[in-house]
Amino acid sequence: MTAQILDGKETARLLREELSVEVEKWRAEGGPQPTLAAVLVGDDPASQVYVRNKERACGQVGMASRLIRRSDTTSTSELLDVLHELNEDSQVHGILVQLPLPKAIDTHRVLDAVAASKDVDAFCPENVGLLVQGRPRFLPCTPHGVVNLLARYRIELAGRHVVIVGRSEIVGKPLANMLVQRDIGFGPKYANATVTICHSQSADLASMTRQADVLVAAVGRPCLITVDMVKPGAVVVDVGINRVDEKLVGDVDFAAVREVASFITPVPGGVGPLTIAMLLRNNFTACELQQAVGDATIAN
Ligand code: NAP
Repeated sequence: MTAQILDGKETARLLREELSVEVEKWRAEGGPQPTLAAVLVGDDPASQVYVRNKERACGQVGMASRLIRRSDTTSTSELLDVLHELNEDSQVHGILVQLPLPKAIDTHRVLDAVAASKDVDAFCPENVGLLVQGRPRFLPCTPHGVVNLLARYRIELAGRHVVIVGRSEIVGKPLANMLVQRDIGFGPKYANATVTICHSQSADLASMTRQADVLVAAVGRPCLITVDMVKPGAVVVDVGINRVDEKLVGDVDFAAVREVASFITPVPGGVGPLTIAMLLRNNFTACELQQAVGDATIAN
């Protein structure tokens, strides 16, 4: 069996197209232009590229973006002031703080300072709590991208065993929290999974991954998932992004695993492009929610 490729690039393009139609309609009906503010601290080259890509993507769907740059000597309290201003600014609907922040900055304090209604990355405790309770305000971007991709290819999750390798706050844990819900907005067939999370302390990783109907690798180690770790016919989602000899590769031994899996995501061109598309979706949701609150306040 040679696996079918799950094309994240094309799926992201379709999602952006759908979103730009919605934004155009929203604006034609008098809605404000959804605006995303990105806070970039220091001059890490990869972070600069990510932020530039996010700004460009905003423009492609009719949204505005603002970049707030600070030097790497900025203190936590100075950054908290920046976030306070953005929280109060009614023309900013979503705020993202580009990670990683310089070591001297208290990342948790900074992320916690983003207003929950503008927290389009869904990192703050209130938004994480809402997700765990099955009533999310925003779905976290990369996990949302994974589910969107699977749903586009009609890969159902209900009753299936999903094994996630990696327990980060950005990918592993929020994805698990989504997949165990009864419905996360795609219908019950795309939730209701039985989920196992593995990490660096898991004993006999291969015996876990071989049980997966759907295997998600989100670790950051090239070729961690070898062909002997994959059940024939499994769906394999590779979230990892690693640079090896100037080339981007995932966590999965793609060439070998492709021969036993039923579906597989490539790297690049798999999950990556969807993450930004989902960020834009959350920014639009934030704009709609803030407008609804504003309208209700005026009505009262
Ligand atoms: P992270 O915070 O570093 O977490 C990595 C996880 O992998 C940890 O839970 C760690 O376990 C686990 N791990 C490490 N070595 C392991 C091993 N040998 N066996 C099993 N588990 C192991 O990373 P992340 O932020 O989730 O990112 C993971 C990868 O996804 C990276 O390559 C990143 O670049 C990529 N990524 C891609 C996107 C996208 O848009 N495609 C978005 C986000 C991240 P412990 O908890 O025990 O340390």
